[in-house]
Amino acid sequence: MSADAKAVAARVVRPEVLAMRAYEVADADGLVKLDVMESPYRLPDGLAQEVGQIVAEVAMNRYPVPSATKLRALLRETMQVPDGCDVLLGNGSDECIQYITAALAREGAVVMAPVPSFAMFSMHALLFRLRFVGMPLRADFSLDADAFLAAMAKERPALVWIAFPNNPTGNAFPVADIERIVRAAPGLVVIDEAYQPFAGATFMPRLAEFPNMVVMRTVSKIGMAGLRLGYVCGRPEWLDEFNKTRSPFNINVLTEAVAIKLLRNKKVLDAQAARVLEERERLRPELERIAGLEVFPSAANFLLVRVAGGAGAGSRAFGRIRAQGVLVKDFSGGHPLLENCLRLTVGTPEENRILLAAMREAVK
Ligand code: PMP
Repeated sequence: MSADAKAVAARVVRPEVLAMRAYEVADADGLVKLDVMESPYRLPDGLAQEVGQIVAEVAMNRYPVPSATKLRALLRETMQVPDGCDVLLGNGSDECIQYITAALAREGAVVMAPVPSFAMFSMHALLFRLRFVGMPLRADFSLDADAFLAAMAKERPALVWIAFPNNPTGNAFPVADIERIVRAAPGLVVIDEAYQPFAGATFMPRLAEFPNMVVMRTVSKIGMAGLRLGYVCGRPEWLDEFNKTRSPFNINVLTEAVAIKLLRNKKVLDAQAARVLEERERLRPELERIAGLEVFPSAANFLLVRVAGGAGAGSRAFGRIRAQGVLVKDFSGGHPLLENCLRLTVGTPEENRILLAAMREAVK
């Protein structure tokens, strides 16, 4: 029976899908979890109790209201979305990437982004049969804006993704370079500001200036990764089109109710993010002091490091770190520019102490 299923699947599943590997999330059971840029902080007890009460009152027998009016109004207010612009919600910004790509998936269209960057940009291009053109960053992960502009002139992309700051490199490309890209782009440019809470800089107030730009955000990095809530901010002319490719009940009633409560208490989340920022600045010099480790600049809640020692050094260090109970992310075997690179999410002071000790052991 299972052999038959495999044969039928091999006949009917798209070849691109057969060749793909599912997005892997490592098992973090029992490990200090510093692999996927979550906030290390849970809610304070009092607020967690109040959330529990709110959850108890939610009408789970009802479908969500697809327009999520209250939550959207709250996001517009708390995230300073400019007048004349609105927000469209996603089940994580992952889903926003999917519905934006779906809306722009004209036959033969091109999607462009610097590489290495967030894997979902190219993955959704592939799934919607768009041609993805990844423009390599320089070896130090800086953006070669002239090369990017030249490639845009040639490829005429319908859609450009700029993660600002970039994942997994951590740096924020210069604002002036991004402006040049937005001005020259023949289609839509999405500024993915997933890490904005740690960067400060934002294109949000400039939405009115650029008719071909939208800003994408998420609440995942400020303590709500488990809720799965992302959003696109922009002019209604764009959001109305994306709204047609969004699945109507994508934000569940629990997410909506809890996100409203937590956004009303955003001070708590902001204070947690500020602690992460302080820790990033404490962690960086400690990592820099470790011989054999190169630490790249970061405007996000993680640090990218490169392990010296030639082929396989990064993966060996990753294994040794995990053996000491800490899970980070290994990028060896991915984009060639990331050879021997590990991405370290900033944790609590105690988690970072454990990470540093494990790292010192691992690269000895
Ligand atoms: N954009 C970037 C640049 C990211 O790094 C991530 C998550 N790692 C996302 C979007 C997606 O985040 P989420 O789906 O949790 O909103």
